[in-house]
Amino acid sequence: MIVSRFAPSPNGSLHLGHAYAAIVAHDLVRERGGRFLLRIEDIDGERSRHELADEFRADLEWLGLEWEEVPAQSTRLASYEETARELLHRGLLYPCTCTRADIQAAEPRFGPEGAIYPGTCKGRLLDPEKPAALRLDVDRAMAEVGEIFWEDELAGLIMADPRPFGDVVLVRKDAPASYHLAMTLDDAADGVTLVTRGQDLFALTHVHRVLQALLDLPVPDWHHHPILVDETGQKLAKRRGSPSLADRRLAGEDGRELADALRAEEFPTGISLVST
Ligand code: GLU
Ligand code: ZN
Repeated sequence: MIVSRFAPSPNGSLHLGHAYAAIVAHDLVRERGGRFLLRIEDIDGERSRHELADEFRADLEWLGLEWEEVPAQSTRLASYEETARELLHRGLLYPCTCTRADIQAAEPRFGPEGAIYPGTCKGRLLDPEKPAALRLDVDRAMAEVGEIFWEDELAGLIMADPRPFGDVVLVRKDAPASYHLAMTLDDAADGVTLVTRGQDLFALTHVHRVLQALLDLPVPDWHHHPILVDETGQKLAKRRGSPSLADRRLAGEDGRELADALRAEEFPTGISLVST
């Protein structure tokens, strides 16, 4: 059975872009008789605001979506820690104590996610006294997994190459996992067979695919959909004046009508869908 999910982080209210993403994931699986999951990705330290999860549920209900909720990331920390220990033991992770300033000072190259970590700490051993992030040794990881592929429903078959991201952080200094590790483990644990999300996350799938190969996890398909942008071509965000779904809901707007408009790709003035 096909299983997809919507996995919002409760760092801020949802806006139209999130509504579009949730509807795409929901409709893709519902029309194929599958399951649509909601997972709250709340391991962002102080930026995670738990009260927002209730707001998200109210927003999705208002849009007329039906979902099954799976446990939030904050309840799964033990599984992240266990996997990180295993990868560390296999020599695939190394501790890094660099600050952003250290990385800038090393005059890094720039990749899809900003500065690429220059590998300053590579080969270092863990010192339990010193808090450190754990980075994936991507060259070593690639040597282990060899040539692997991933399949996007829109973009087709793609060879996994996470090297443009450098040695990404898998365990943050302040959290037992990074987004990459947590989300990859959770999608496997939740039985997700179709990872549906915006094209802004497309390139990161290279990293996730390699993690799946290293950890022998089942491999889903992906559906990276076009994303909504404002007049300036930037992703919608509440801080740039895009009203939240909660604002619209509380102002009495009809959520199901809004959902149908998004399905028909009818967007408010200034907002459009772009394919990258
Ligand atoms: N929590 C992530 C976000 O809100 C989810 C991304 C994903 O679907 O993998 O951006
Ligand atoms: Zn470092």
